[in-house]
Amino acid sequence: VWQNCLKIIRDSISEQSYKTWFEPIIPGKLEGKKLTIQVPSQFFYEWLEENYVHLLRKALDYAIGREGMLEYSIIVDSGNQKKNEPPIAVNMPQHNSPVNNRLENKIVNEQVKNPFEMRDLDSLNLDSFLNPNYTFDNFVEGDCNRLARAAGFAVASKPGVTSFNPLMIYGGVGLGKTHLVQAIGNFMKNKAVNKFVLYVSSEKFTSQFINAIRNNSLQDFMTFYMQVDILIIDDVQFLSGKEKTQETFFHIFNHLHQSGKQIVMTSDRPPRELEGVEDRLLSRFKWGLTADLQTPDFETRIAIIQKKAHAEGIDIAYEVIEYLAHSIDTNVRELEGVMISLLAQASLTRRDIDVELAKNTLRHLIKDSEREVTIDTIIEAVTEHFKVRIPDLKGKSRLREIVLPRQIAMYLAKELTNLSLKSIGYHFGGRDHSTVIHAIQTVNDLMDTDKDISGAVNKLLKLFRK
Ligand code: ADP
Ligand code: MG
Repeated sequence: VWQNCLKIIRDSISEQSYKTWFEPIIPGKLEGKKLTIQVPSQFFYEWLEENYVHLLRKALDYAIGREGMLEYSIIVDSGNQKKNEPPIAVNMPQHNSPVNNRLENKIVNEQVKNPFEMRDLDSLNLDSFLNPNYTFDNFVEGDCNRLARAAGFAVASKPGVTSFNPLMIYGGVGLGKTHLVQAIGNFMKNKAVNKFVLYVSSEKFTSQFINAIRNNSLQDFMTFYMQVDILIIDDVQFLSGKEKTQETFFHIFNHLHQSGKQIVMTSDRPPRELEGVEDRLLSRFKWGLTADLQTPDFETRIAIIQKKAHAEGIDIAYEVIEYLAHSIDTNVRELEGVMISLLAQASLTRRDIDVELAKNTLRHLIKDSEREVTIDTIIEAVTEHFKVRIPDLKGKSRLREIVLPRQIAMYLAKELTNLSLKSIGYHFGGRDHSTVIHAIQTVNDLMDTDKDISGAVNKLLKLFRK
C-alpha cells in the first residue's frame, strides 16, 4: 500500500524533497484502512503534516480510498537499538506547525549579514564550504588542545558512531576552533565520498533561515539541512537570543542526531555559560562530548611559529622565534598576525628578520590597537622612572639602584601581563623563574614596609591600568 502511495508522491514533488522526506519513512502495518508509518523524529512528523498533508491525502485516496487513515510512529534511536515509541498521532489534524506561522516580530531584528544565496540550497553538487587549508596535519598539537584534537580526530574517523555526538569545542577567540572543526570536515570529505559534509557559521545559518522565511522557502531550507550527514556549525554563541532560529536548529539537531548523523559545534564559551540559549537546546549540547581549547603554552607557541614559518617557506632564526613565543601569549591568531607583519616589514625594508625588527613590529602593532601592556613598555617605563639604563636592568649588576628597579619591573610584568614566570625571566637577560619569584616576593614585602616604594609601584601600576 505504501508503495502505491509513494508512486503518487514521487510524481508530485522534486527528487530532492522526495529523498529527504519520504525515503526515510518505513511502512508499518495496515489495519483495516489504517496504515502506520515510521518516521525518524517528532519534527519529521510535524513537518510532513505541515507541508505534505494534501499530498498524503491524495496518496491515501489513491492507495486505500477516502477512508484511508495514517498513523505515525516515531523511531527512537537509543544506542544502536531501534525501538518504537507508541504511535503519536492519528489521521491528519490540521494544526499549526511549530516552525511556521508564529514568527515573532523579533525575527526582523535578527540581523542579516550575508545575503542568502539560493545557490547554497539548490546546488546539486553540494558545497561543503570548507577551507582546504585547515587540516589536522597543520594543526599543531599541544597540552592546550590535546583532548579537543583527539576527539575531533575520532569523530572525523567515525562520524556519528562514537559517543562524541554532538562534539562541542569551545575556547576563546583565535585559539583554533574554526581550524579544528574544518579539519574534521576536510578529513571526512576526503574519505567519505558520498557523505554530505556541511560547514556553516551560526551567523550564516541565521541569515539563511531569516531569508527562507522572507522568501517563503522554509521548505527548501529544511530539506537542505535534513540531507546533511555531518553538520559543522561554528560559533553557536551567536544563536543566543534568537529564539526562532534556535527552535529551527533544535529540530534539525534532533533529526540529524536521531538519524545517526554527526554534529560538530563550536562556541566561544562553555555551554553552561551560553546565555539566551534555550535549556532544551543546551541539554542537547551535553549529550556528547565537550572539549576546550586553551591558550597555547610556550612550547606549543614555538611549534606553531616554526610550522607557519616553514609553510611560508621562510627561515626565522630560533632567537626570533623564541622572542615571539615569549612575547605573545594571547592566542594563535595574534601570533600569526605578528608574523605576517614581520614578514612584510622584512621584505619592505630589505632587512633580515632579527629580534630588533621583531621588537619594533610588535611595539608598532600593540600601539595600533592600544591593547595590552607589553613587557617592553613596562621596562621602558620603569627605567625612565628610576633613571636607569635598559641594558643595566637586563644585565648582571647587583647594585641596589639597579636590582630594585629590575625587581619592580618583574613584579609589574607579573601583575600586568599574562606572561609566565619563565617568559618574564627571559625578558630580563634570561633569568630563571625562581629569580622572578624572589623578585615578586621582595616587592610584595617592600610594598608593606616602604612607603616610597609602594608609592612608586602604585604610580606605575596606575599608569598602565588607566
Ligand atoms: P577561532 O576559530 O578559535 O577564533 P581559528 O581557528 O580561526 O580560531 O584560528 C586562528 C588562526 O590560528 C588560524 O589561522 C589557525 O590556522 C591558527 N591556529 C590556531 N590553532 C592552531 C594550532 N594548534 N596549530 C596551528 N595553527 C593554529
Ligand atoms: Mg572561528
